[in-house]
Amino acid sequence: MLNLVLFGPPGAGKGTQSQNLIEKYGLIHLSTGDLLRSEIAQGTTLGLEAKKLMDEGLLVPDEVVIGMISNKLDTNPDAKGFIFDGFPRTVAQATALDNLLQSKATAISGMIALEVNDAELESRLLLRGKDSGRPDDANPEVIRKRIREYNEKTAPVADFYKGQAKFTSINGIGSIDEIFTAISAVVDKY
Ligand code: ADP
Repeated sequence: MLNLVLFGPPGAGKGTQSQNLIEKYGLIHLSTGDLLRSEIAQGTTLGLEAKKLMDEGLLVPDEVVIGMISNKLDTNPDAKGFIFDGFPRTVAQATALDNLLQSKATAISGMIALEVNDAELESRLLLRGKDSGRPDDANPEVIRKRIREYNEKTAPVADFYKGQAKFTSINGIGSIDEIFTAISAVVDKY
């Protein structure tokens, strides 16, 4: 299986590049942000709880996102592979993902990190907020809080994959096509 972790701060372009990767490699896209927004749209208890945290720019609890990912792995037993987008976002999530994949006799092929500086992220997210309808993209304070959460809790996840020699970083500034070419060159080596 080809199992990719697409990594990077909010606004780095993970969602956009995931769409390209799905088309080229036939993978299933698992975005915890999308899964949570779908719970919110359906008005589930999980969604209502998660919304409060998401609107504040905070991470939702590890157990919640790990449970969602576990379900999705179970409901796609014949997948050629997965793209994990926005997950794992903490070291605890990364460890849980390793265990889940191991129980299915597979593993992460590699993590690809998109590098974008904080000033560029802020302006991209504010621009996206104008038409995405996402409340967490509309408010500069919430955006800064999300970037802070990323630097504190999520950035260490890169070290986790560096420790397994599965980490590659790519410049996330440039045209969508240029960045995708760079990502594909890495994926083709897996
Ligand atoms: P972005 O990366 O642009 O911030 P996402 O759609 O990936 O957007 O995530 C939106 C919000 O959903 C996050 O700010 C967080 O509150 C929550 N979330 C998504 N994935 C996770 C995760 N793996 N762990 C904890 N919270 C998450």
